[in-house]
Amino acid sequence: MLKVTKFGGSSMADAGQYRKVREIVSSDPHRRVVIVSAAGKRDSSDHKITDLLYLCYAHIQYGVDCNQIFEMIRDRYLQIRDELGVKLDLESEFAALKDRLDHKAISQDELASRGEYFSAKLMAAYLGFQFVDAALWIQFKMDGTVDQEASYKALKRLVRGNGVVIPGFYGVMPDGRIHTFTRGGSDITGALAAAALDADVYENWTDVSGILMADPRIVENPQPIPEVTYDELRELSYSGAQVLHEGTIFPVREKGIPLNIRNTNAPNDPGTMIQESFTSNQDDQRPITGITGKKDFSIISMSKRGMGNEVGVLRSMLTVFERHGISVDFTPNGIDNVSVVVPTEAVSHNLYNILAEIQQEVKPDSLHVHDQIAVVAAVGRRMAFRPGISGQIFAALGQAGINIRMINQGPDELNIIFGVDNKDFAEAIRVLYNSFVK
Ligand code: ASP
Repeated sequence: MLKVTKFGGSSMADAGQYRKVREIVSSDPHRRVVIVSAAGKRDSSDHKITDLLYLCYAHIQYGVDCNQIFEMIRDRYLQIRDELGVKLDLESEFAALKDRLDHKAISQDELASRGEYFSAKLMAAYLGFQFVDAALWIQFKMDGTVDQEASYKALKRLVRGNGVVIPGFYGVMPDGRIHTFTRGGSDITGALAAAALDADVYENWTDVSGILMADPRIVENPQPIPEVTYDELRELSYSGAQVLHEGTIFPVREKGIPLNIRNTNAPNDPGTMIQESFTSNQDDQRPITGITGKKDFSIISMSKRGMGNEVGVLRSMLTVFERHGISVDFTPNGIDNVSVVVPTEAVSHNLYNILAEIQQEVKPDSLHVHDQIAVVAAVGRRMAFRPGISGQIFAALGQAGINIRMINQGPDELNIIFGVDNKDFAEAIRVLYNSFVK
């Protein structure tokens, strides 16, 4: 059995967190492959090492020295090393790095990747594991996507049964230059390692006990979701409140590897298990897996008498949005009317052109725009074929005096989506949560 474990920035922030990581890794002999992020914030006023590295690079570009920032970075790693009593010469590596930086002989990506590099060097020495540089196996193609086949092959050759620590976030381009993923990309490194090695599980250790049923800024102490399918997760990620980098899912899903989100600060919590499907008995469980949503949508609605019998009206309307490069979120419709729901910011700068084109090409009887709309989604695989769920949702909202501006259910019955006024957004989420969870 093999568990690939990835520890995020908050799990790498100081010596105390390193100790927790060692505790977690050594408590299970299956945890033999460890991927680490750069050191994150120790508290809310602290800085992420990756942010400081980018800042350093910007200083050098503008001809300003970055000695102070560089020292903050170096001192953080030296402090962790010394507190842990690890014997490792980091001083000369930092000196060589500073020299390249001063001579502008390092790219932004390579400099940004050094946070992960030093984290992994230190963690490998602390765990007594082998350090395996991501530059030796993660291979990007010229278009910036990962060459999975070549990368998987390379990692399989490098990992032979013993414990290894791999830095997240970067790999190499075909010409050997270091290239990074987008921010938060260590999650992807972990997923690629799990897929390459056909792991039994990919554990992603962070600072929350899994994905929460609702945004904790809206609902007080929301419960974590014990089990969620990839499809549900996709729906839940809609609000942008992401626990994982969006590129994480594909490599593990493709190989059918379950993904387990865990909390380094509460290692006994089971966290959230994400997989294709679950066989557990579902009838006794709550129908809603999670509640999510976003504010600031516009509903552009038009009506045209007789349009229910006319061919191509919807297409003409959607073509206008397509021409402006706007992705449409929902299109709720009646017999002789249709609405297009889009994020307000996508249309705000060219709204009058869009309306003029709809007027000209569709010739509607009326055309209106409603702003300040929030979209709320109740997501759950157990809602399908279960009568009464939407009744419960709308009754709860009705009792709370919340007016519903739009309703939409996906054909797979995985979600029920509705629009409310922005001002009712938080209350709608709280009302739903309390109606299904308490
Ligand atoms: N250290 C990188 C960042 O802050 C990558 C990661 O932590 O996943 O974005």
